[in-house]
Amino acid sequence: MRSLVAGNWKMNGSLAMAAGLVADIKARHQKAVLPVDLLLCPPFPYLAAVGSQLKGAGIALGGQDCHTAGSGAHTGDVSAAMLVDLGCCYVILGHSERRTDHSESSVLVASKAKAAIGAGLVAIICVGETEAQRNAGDQNKIVEKQIVESVPADATAENAVIAYEPVWAIGTGKTPTVGDVEAMHRHIRGLLKQRVSGGAAMRILYGGSVKPTNAAELMAVPEVNGALVGGASLKAEDFWGIAEGAAKSAG
Ligand code: PEP
Repeated sequence: MRSLVAGNWKMNGSLAMAAGLVADIKARHQKAVLPVDLLLCPPFPYLAAVGSQLKGAGIALGGQDCHTAGSGAHTGDVSAAMLVDLGCCYVILGHSERRTDHSESSVLVASKAKAAIGAGLVAIICVGETEAQRNAGDQNKIVEKQIVESVPADATAENAVIAYEPVWAIGTGKTPTVGDVEAMHRHIRGLLKQRVSGGAAMRILYGGSVKPTNAAELMAVPEVNGALVGGASLKAEDFWGIAEGAAKSAG
């Protein structure tokens, strides 16, 4: 399975910073095409500019959220069709920051994923436990509930990707042990095989404090099929270092 390395810029950057970052990543990609799929997910206002810079570069564009509806009276929201219009192929859904900041439930995430898939996007559906849940030993139960409720019935290996992101590892510099990552990814794989058509082939990304220094080790873990990268995706050198780490386990 080809790995996917996705950069989630969150609400960071400026038009100028985006242009510089994309130019740097493109230059690295032109020098050495890696055997991994690359994806950039800038904030909505920069999608058009980043999309036109990425044209023909072989690097995909994605949004960080979308609405369940195709259009209508939803001030401040963006539909999946609008993302497609701007050249997006992917959308991140159910990120823990949206689950927390906007009280998004797994049921809402499933309807967003259904809308995204219907519009032709690949939905990256995020799941992950909090530190308290892990300390209580409840991580498998929590992630299972999130998968059951957030992954729509029409998800397949072609139109959906799971991102396992322990909430306590996001932006903290802390990561689970390699053994814990493997255990959770095997758990998720088992659930996908039971519940999703082609679940054996659906990509499962790891996210949470991935850096160039730990990427190769994390990407080599069985059932880890790429990374969702936050902070480190804002520096071309770091994002590229992570892509190189993922490429090592591809080889
Ligand atoms: C994320 O926000 O998806 C993420 C994984 O962030 P970070 O890499 O900064 O931990």
